[in-house]
Amino acid sequence: MSPYQPRIPLISVTPRGLYCPRGDFYIDPWEGVDTALITHAHSDHAREGSQLYHISEQSLGIIQRRLGAEGQYITHSYSQSFTLGDVLISFHPAGHILGSAQIRMECEGEVWVVSGDYKRDYDPTCAAFEVVPCDVFITESTFGLPIFVWKGIEEETEAIYRWWKKNQEVGKNSMLACYALGKSQRVLHALAAFTDQPVLLHGATQVLVDLYREQGVPLIATQPATDYGKDMTGQLILAPPGAIGSTWSRKFGPYETGFASGWMRIRGNRRRKAYDQGFVISDHADWPALLQTVRECGAKKIYVTHGYTDDLSRFLCELGHDAEPLETLFAREEDG
Ligand SMILES: [Zn+2]
Ligand SMILES: [Zn+2]
Repeated sequence: MSPYQPRIPLISVTPRGLYCPRGDFYIDPWEGVDTALITHAHSDHAREGSQLYHISEQSLGIIQRRLGAEGQYITHSYSQSFTLGDVLISFHPAGHILGSAQIRMECEGEVWVVSGDYKRDYDPTCAAFEVVPCDVFITESTFGLPIFVWKGIEEETEAIYRWWKKNQEVGKNSMLACYALGKSQRVLHALAAFTDQPVLLHGATQVLVDLYREQGVPLIATQPATDYGKDMTGQLILAPPGAIGSTWSRKFGPYETGFASGWMRIRGNRRRKAYDQGFVISDHADWPALLQTVRECGAKKIYVTHGYTDDLSRFLCELGHDAEPLETLFAREEDG
């Protein structure tokens, strides 16, 4: 297949991140810039120091919490377009976490879409991914290998519930490592189908759970873990991965540990990180969903960034797509 040459070089890679010269803005820049468009609130995408942020309406509370309330934010509802320079821009749901967006840019009839992080799996805690037809698609590839295929969230949540009950019977707590933004809320929503027993939360998770609740996302009842101490048994506790094994976690009675992450698809990861249990739950597209999305958006050119860029782009080329890796400074995923 002959390579597609975009008519307009709408996005270029710079040391500060993806830059759009025709609109004079950056997308998820890793340094302070004049104008930043932010796909979502995870710390590897939303960084402090910029003069002005364009963000989705739903992510305002979370981004203010993370970057400070003093910043200058312009919010946009999904699908509503606005113009910067010569570029018509709109945000579209990415299905990744609350407020996550793909960014559509149109200039002289050519359409580019930057996916940000996205997934296609069922997730009632945020707006569902929308297929945005485009000429050029810049996709993430965090889990861009054929081994990464997700089961349904219900199945994995039921496994969490059973693990919790089993530990409860022997007088142990269940300490589940869960990214504080997105993953925790998804698990707390799904657990409501199995029990109404409250789940205990680490403080960092609690803050974000409150922000989801403020936006009307229904979650199972929760309590601050700090209300409990050594004599506590049989509880499920959600905490960010870094908190488990720390002084914080030693305040509680005996516990088993688990980790809810796409990386748990590879058995060795659980052993290496010394978790007792792994649950394969991810807020990123799995391999079939990456391929499906590339197909459905109909792009003539695919740039692959953020993860297994070489593997995914090579496979896409074998399928007949015009794909290539887009080398950017790659920050570690906050939210595998
Ligand atoms: Zn993310
Ligand atoms: Zn990311």
